[in-house]
Amino acid sequence: MDTPNSRLIADVCIMGAGPVGGSLACRLAEAGIATVVVDRAALAPMEHPAFDGRAYAISAGSRRLLDEAGLWPQLPEAAQEIREIRVSDGKVGRPASPLFLHFDCQERGPDAGPFGWMVEARGLRIALNRHMPTLPSLRVFAPAEASVERRADGAIVRIAGGPDIACRLVVAAEGRHSPLREQAGIPVTRLPYGQTGMTFAVAHDHPHCGIAIEHFLPAGPFALLPMAPSADALAGGAPHVSAIVWTERTATAARTMALDDARFEREATRRLGDHLGRIRLVGRRWSYPLSAMLAHRYVDTRLALAGDAAHGIHPIAGQGLNLGFRDAIVLGDLVVEAVQAGQDPGSPALLTRYQRARRPDNMAMLAMTDGLDRLFSSDNPVLRLARDVGIAAVHRLPPLKRLFMQQAMGVR
Ligand SMILES: Cc1cc2nc3c(=O)[nH]c(=O)nc-3n(C[C@H](O)[C@H](O)[C@H](O)COP(=O)(O)OP(=O)(O)OC[C@H]3O[C@@H](n4cnc5c(N)ncnc54)[C@H](O)[C@@H]3O)c2cc1C
Repeated sequence: MDTPNSRLIADVCIMGAGPVGGSLACRLAEAGIATVVVDRAALAPMEHPAFDGRAYAISAGSRRLLDEAGLWPQLPEAAQEIREIRVSDGKVGRPASPLFLHFDCQERGPDAGPFGWMVEARGLRIALNRHMPTLPSLRVFAPAEASVERRADGAIVRIAGGPDIACRLVVAAEGRHSPLREQAGIPVTRLPYGQTGMTFAVAHDHPHCGIAIEHFLPAGPFALLPMAPSADALAGGAPHVSAIVWTERTATAARTMALDDARFEREATRRLGDHLGRIRLVGRRWSYPLSAMLAHRYVDTRLALAGDAAHGIHPIAGQGLNLGFRDAIVLGDLVVEAVQAGQDPGSPALLTRYQRARRPDNMAMLAMTDGLDRLFSSDNPVLRLARDVGIAAVHRLPPLKRLFMQQAMGVR
């Protein structure tokens, strides 16, 4: 039984049970690694029952993590395959540029799998919160406050009113405002965009056929992501559902968020076009300020940063959470390998390998998404022509097109 200041021993203690910390915890525990996860918030077994409108595009690489973590079968709703991706350039209220990029997963061969899967953010939380308490190698403390003391030979995580956990590695997965990153004095570079992402779900008249659309508009990208209808949506007579991530300059977004549903739907339709018929809002709308962020180091004594605690990128390519999942894959593999070989999972050598494997990849994605946003969020006619010609060139050059497709699938 846990009493205040009783002692627990674990290999790894993860602070933050969000998508990244929670998935890593399950992945380690599934491999028999003694793991503890601590979250400041309560982890309800069922989140808010209504479709919450936010959704993640899960790449093939990230799917591997969710499989190994035992989470994929726990998703409450079927994931929607992304079978085609269309990228176009345009202006609000006008049809998309005819020079659009079109990726079809069939182009990679008849047996090729989809580019990725769309999963509700709420569904992933439900899967995590259901699965974590069932794993014998995992202890969950939530809601709980904890303090962390790190030394060269190990770390102690003190749960307020609970046990002290002696472990060999602490993972900071507390999201963007990571207190552990700040305590370690790790500086971050931030790049504000002056843009806000609005996310919500819509029901529409016609099927989406698994096609994801990224429409570049002067104020920022407007993405339509196909979703499988939830049981609630089906019961409500809405068999065709998509998630939308709509980027606007912050002041415009604030005005847009204040519109009533009918006017909001009209503005969304002006950007989307009418190929899906009439659209209707499902669930609530969310908005979040966009900025890029990169921690200067991912590691410190007995500490590794993962997910939003280490980086944040523009949602233009839908890769933010996939980068966090890739951190969890690399760190998970290194820790499992070390523990199974009787080695220290928090050693400086292991932490250096983790940082070398992840920071350049995340930095490259940050630079790519930042460049894409700057190139496409402009109404300058010369830039418009350049990007339309660029789009056409990608289409005509198969190796370049393959590179784009691999990037979209997170398999590079
Ligand atoms: C409003 C909003 C909408 C979004 N919509 C989308 C979208 O549509 N598609 C998309 O791909 N991405 C979206 N994102 C981004 C996406 O949610 C993040 O990239 C992703 O959640 C990062 O996962 P994470 O586990 O690293 O961090 P988080 O999801 O931030 O999880 C951090 C966890 O740590 C816990 N925590 C915080 N502080 C402490 C502490 N001191 N001690 C212990 N635990 C702590 C928190 O309670 C939380 O559970 C959205 C973000 C926001 C804010």
